[in-house]
Amino acid sequence: MSVLLLNASYEPLTVVSWKRAMTLVISGRAEMVEQAGDRIIRSAGGAEFPLPHVVRLMTMVTFAGMRAHRSPRFSKAALSARDDRRCQVITCDERGSTVDHLVPRSRGGDTSWENCVLMCPAHNSRKGDKLLHELGWKLKRSPKTPVGAIVLTPARSSEWSRWVAPAVS
Ligand SMILES: [Zn+2]
Repeated sequence: MSVLLLNASYEPLTVVSWKRAMTLVISGRAEMVEQAGDRIIRSAGGAEFPLPHVVRLMTMVTFAGMRAHRSPRFSKAALSARDDRRCQVITCDERGSTVDHLVPRSRGGDTSWENCVLMCPAHNSRKGDKLLHELGWKLKRSPKTPVGAIVLTPARSSEWSRWVAPAVS
């Protein structure tokens, strides 16, 4: 019985044994997000716990090595996945179909995870070569390099399909 471990940000980190997941939950380091049906684990002391299917860490963990080796390569498709395919301007709920350079290329901005966000065409064209603070715009979240998605077998991917986004390329 395996359990999907999510980072505090709800990004999938890895798959752990149910015993490891239970230890994390009981020690307060993780919370249960999804229960495995109505299965119950009984401890040696007689206490009963619902068996987890997905747990989430209470504090964010980052792995320097993981970041260096597994960050998805920047692409528009990958950026769309990171930004939920939505315009990242905080007041906007439009589909994000264009890539905006926060520091425009004309002002030395690079094409990178930290400098690019998805925007709807209207916001992108209104932004032009300005900076966000010059327009008084805020983003839904600050753009970060995603921690690489874990590699799951197809069976496991579908088991946790709500949590594990399709691989970005
Ligand atoms: Zn917009």
